[in-house]
Amino acid sequence: MIPVEEALEKILSYFDVLEPEDEETLECLGRVLAKDIHSTIDIPPMDNSAMDGYAVQSGSTDGASRSSPVILRVIGEVAAGYLTNDEVVPGTAIRIMTGAPIPGGADAVVQFEDTDEETRKSHSQPLTEIGVLREVERGLNIRRTGEDIARGDLVLRKGTLLRPQEIGVLASLGWDVVPVIRRPVVAILATGDELVELGKPLSPGKIYSSNTYSLAAQVIRYGGIPQILGIAPDNVQALEEKIQQARDADMLITSAGVSVGDYDVVKDVLARQGEITFWTVRMKPGKPLAFGLMHLGRKPVPHLGLPGNPVSSMITFEQFARPAILKMLGRVRLDKPTIHAQSESRVVNTDGRRIFARVTVSKKAWQYYARVVAPQGSGILTSMAQANGLMIVPEEAPSVEVGDNVVVQMLDWDEETSQVRERETKR
Ligand code: AMP
Ligand code: MG
Repeated sequence: MIPVEEALEKILSYFDVLEPEDEETLECLGRVLAKDIHSTIDIPPMDNSAMDGYAVQSGSTDGASRSSPVILRVIGEVAAGYLTNDEVVPGTAIRIMTGAPIPGGADAVVQFEDTDEETRKSHSQPLTEIGVLREVERGLNIRRTGEDIARGDLVLRKGTLLRPQEIGVLASLGWDVVPVIRRPVVAILATGDELVELGKPLSPGKIYSSNTYSLAAQVIRYGGIPQILGIAPDNVQALEEKIQQARDADMLITSAGVSVGDYDVVKDVLARQGEITFWTVRMKPGKPLAFGLMHLGRKPVPHLGLPGNPVSSMITFEQFARPAILKMLGRVRLDKPTIHAQSESRVVNTDGRRIFARVTVSKKAWQYYARVVAPQGSGILTSMAQANGLMIVPEEAPSVEVGDNVVVQMLDWDEETSQVRERETKR
């Protein structure tokens, strides 16, 4: 048996960051930037007002207060998106809106709240004059040219994971197409005579190929593009044909046919098409695993053979396929988010493997609790559906006891932290 880390390290050594491609800006959410982004413009492009108010010469407001306002003559108005040719001179003001360019001559903006505009309006007085209720210093409420981004600045570095805020920054620079790392195509092939495609009736002895869909959904969730190859029955020809279709993929994932007792056809074909090794990994569920390179077309395709049991298939995907996909996408952090929790269940480790127990994590006053969902069989896919985390029982631990502090890999993290429910009372 080989440790989980060793299997992962070997697998990852076969994957590299993929090539860049140009993608529409909004499609770049969650992708990794493939080039440094320098700005060719200033943001903001000109000095502009941070407030709705009056553009003035700060000197004109000397001595102004609520009890003795300074009265200025209003010589014009400017809205965001427009320029004005009017010049502010001593004793005058230009009414200005947020984002509007600062008129010539002005060096400060007095916000509406610091003028008597409201009073004048309520008395239906025309705004040909305005009373300023405080002194303002030079530069007040002015956003300076280039204060956010100056022309020539390195704004975003190659390798940056693009979140909504980076998408916004790119848009502010006018980028409508952005160079990002391409998404990997992951071919998925289910094997087994017992498998039936969705939409077909189940005959006796058959089951639907749920792995095809849980795996494809995992590929999508972690940023890959699934290429569903369907089902190959346990015979040489069918399997060879199906596998050929993966020749342009960045990774081939097969499900089932790798355990010790399996009908040898699957193993034979996999071995014949490439260099493949069969591992027993020190983990539960998911002990049997195959990995190697398939020689199908012009480039070798890394192949990951996952166990057939639906839970094992998903958990081995999380541990081995997910990091490989993230690495191809140019991501740096490949580990799953983990938390520390207090176990509410007892789990016995009978054979020195790392157990990934399906748990529901809940939270009370900043303390997380992890409770094992029952039953835990590796064929019981609904145990995954009930769980929001995988509690790790270390290889060397004979058991985890109730109350023990444990590490939990969160299956759901960002959008689903909400699934970690705040508890009313301790169970
Ligand atoms: P195997 O790895 O071939 O020994 O399969 C282990 C178990 O997983 C068996 O009960 C299979 O029927 C089941 N299994 C294999 N492939 C799939 C699949 N695509 N979807 C659902 N269950 C599967
Ligand atoms: Mg089988």
